[in-house]
Amino acid sequence: MSALHEELAAVLADMPNEQRVKVAGRDFWVGHWQGHAVVAVLSRIGKVAAATTATVMLERFGVGALVFTGVAGGLGPQVRVGDVVVANGLVQHDMDASPLFPRHEVPLYGRAVFDSDAHLSGALATAAQQVLQVPERHLGSATLAQFHLHAPQVHRGLLVSGDRFVSTTAESEALRSALPTALAVEMEGAAVAQVCLDYGVPFAAVRTISDRADDTAHTDFNRFIAQVASRYSHAILSQWLAQRPAPGVRLT
Ligand code: SAH
Repeated sequence: MSALHEELAAVLADMPNEQRVKVAGRDFWVGHWQGHAVVAVLSRIGKVAAATTATVMLERFGVGALVFTGVAGGLGPQVRVGDVVVANGLVQHDMDASPLFPRHEVPLYGRAVFDSDAHLSGALATAAQQVLQVPERHLGSATLAQFHLHAPQVHRGLLVSGDRFVSTTAESEALRSALPTALAVEMEGAAVAQVCLDYGVPFAAVRTISDRADDTAHTDFNRFIAQVASRYSHAILSQWLAQRPAPGVRLT
């Protein structure tokens, strides 16, 4: 599942003979990639839209695992534009039913943090490390220079999600003080993690840092997606699938 048109386009370019199935106004692309049966879809933006897309993936298509890719704003002090964050856990930063429940806890779930699947996340982090080791193979030196990308890193930790594009320094500071361990902020991941927990299906999220969620967050956003994030996502997913053991029964 990707949050961005450009990412999805890069994936579909590698999926020969995929079939389009329309459900709930969304186009689900059913086909194969690197020898695996896959369904590719645009999540749409925001928690509710992404949760609906995830529910269709699980109910209608019965996927055995769900991987989310996209971009995010960096919050952790060491998390720079061009780095990649693989989530260990996800929190909805705008969930607040206090004083009835502790801040960030999702009522009736007894938790604020929704864990990603350790095995799936580990495999994706390995693929991300392999891709970022030689970024020039995927981006070209002009793009690396243009976005000042130098020795990009893979981070693992807390990803926070909410229905806001965080684009002021004041807001990102408020998030850092409310959730000090948060590495990055985006708008869908924690909602999809909650749906996957409901269905007992492994979930992982991989996000390229497009901005620092501050007053300059909108600068170059679209160019960064086209030239960096969509290429990283494609390379990471492709690498991960190529290394993933083939399923017992292969569809042809
Ligand atoms: N121009 C884009 C809109 C992107 S909205 C388009 O037309 O599709 C922002 C998207 O990037 C969301 O999917 C969100 O998950 C992620 N994101 C990146 N930086 C973010 C930030 N600083 N705050 C919140 N979400 C962010």
